[in-house]
Amino acid sequence: MTAIHWFRRDLRLGDNPALHAAAGTGDVLALYVLDPRLWASAGAPRRAYLARSLAALDAQTGGRLLVRQGDPRQVVPAVAREVAATAVHVAASYEPFGRRRDDAVEWDLEDAGVPLVRTGSPYAVAPGRVRNGSGGDYKVFTPFRRAWSEHGWRPPAPDAETTAATVTFVDGGRGDPVPDAPVPAGMTLPEAGEPAALARWAEMLDGPLTRYATERDRPDLDSTSRLSVPLKWGEIHPRTLLADLAGRGGDGAETFRSQIAWREFHADVLFHHPSARRESLTPVVPESVWVNGSTEQDLLDAWAAGRTGYPMVDAGMRQLLAEGWMHNRLRMLVASFLVKDLHVRWQRGADHFLAWLVDGDVPQNQLNWQWVAGTGRDASPYFRVFNPVTQGVKFDPAGRYVRRWVPELRDVPGRAVHEPWKLPRSAAPDYPDRIVDHATERAVSLGAYHSLR
Ligand code: FAD
Repeated sequence: MTAIHWFRRDLRLGDNPALHAAAGTGDVLALYVLDPRLWASAGAPRRAYLARSLAALDAQTGGRLLVRQGDPRQVVPAVAREVAATAVHVAASYEPFGRRRDDAVEWDLEDAGVPLVRTGSPYAVAPGRVRNGSGGDYKVFTPFRRAWSEHGWRPPAPDAETTAATVTFVDGGRGDPVPDAPVPAGMTLPEAGEPAALARWAEMLDGPLTRYATERDRPDLDSTSRLSVPLKWGEIHPRTLLADLAGRGGDGAETFRSQIAWREFHADVLFHHPSARRESLTPVVPESVWVNGSTEQDLLDAWAAGRTGYPMVDAGMRQLLAEGWMHNRLRMLVASFLVKDLHVRWQRGADHFLAWLVDGDVPQNQLNWQWVAGTGRDASPYFRVFNPVTQGVKFDPAGRYVRRWVPELRDVPGRAVHEPWKLPRSAAPDYPDRIVDHATERAVSLGAYHSLR
């Protein structure tokens, strides 16, 4: 008897309840369907990472991962028929695209007489489960986090080694090659796959976690976990992290747990409000504030290339181009700058992030953009406009982060690096002039905001 485990956002063996549900009935065919629509829209950094993650998973299954290209609606039922599968097992999807796809595949599988069995999800608590006293969804993060903690989650399923030793993966026959997915020129990607994710988590537990509460906002210290990438691809499950944190006290563990709760909150908000993918949940400024046409494109281009003349903004954008990742403090700053200093709609920035981030993930990306733009559920108020200079002075006090990513400013010492326009031109001759004046544009944004009050 063979059951199919259809891998999607769970590219791991360990702590994978859906895989164990499949193994509970006999042999397992490990399947990954490479949907050309998703592949085309993923952006080169995510494609390159996914190709590497699939190679790592293939190695973990002893070379038994069957990759097929095509629309899952056709591919999954076809493979199910080929191997006379008893069932197709998945971890449930909760974002709008995944839900629609799974419902459609389930429908088509019915014709083949094969059930689609959903076990678990990419979250500790499935979106939609945490409800307030009147059965509705939470609008504000803090009460959500409290209720989420009280709801609790199951202990992790067996780890990777145990799973590899107990699950029998069968040969699924002819597979399709994963298309060539080069890493974009000048970019360095982290190592993909579950073993690398577990190693990164072990390193975090051994050191930076104790300093996490105080250092997590300091991009110059680089002391966050960088687990957003493996979490995005399901190379590690948040429940694994929460179980390890449970045994530890201290501010670091508590703050880290809270960040995981933000991830679960955003997934919950998108589950209840699928339109938040593209539309502001709470429009806060008149449409007339946004720039359009070639002005919008020029500003977007300068921002995307890291050539705004504001060193912290430019450093963040260049880190994105070089690593496919950006520190959270910078994500907030560059997003605020695009929306409130350049008056470009948040959706444009979110699209650029999704094209470049290796951890690019619809619920996290869209809802964080809405948080910064002041349009989300529990959002930062619109009138909070990040100041690129004071953010630099506070979170990159010696200017090390800026000098690392903006070579034109390498010779500018100390915190002067955050205001190069105050120095003689010869101090940084190749660095661009500011494209806007922050104080002026902040006043424009606040004026627009108050006009709707
Ligand atoms: P750590 O500080 O080590 O945090 C641990 C984990 O907690 C992260 O891996 C992540 O899963 C979660 N987490 C931390 N901060 C947040 C947050 N603000 N929202 C949700 N979860 C959080 N994260 C993504 O995973 N994908 C995205 O596409 C994405 N886009 C973003 C866009 C904007 C405009 C902003 C402001 C934030 C975005 N984030 C996104 C959230 C956050 O910036 C990243 O998760 C974090 O920087 C990843 O680095 P880390 O793993 O070292 O984080």
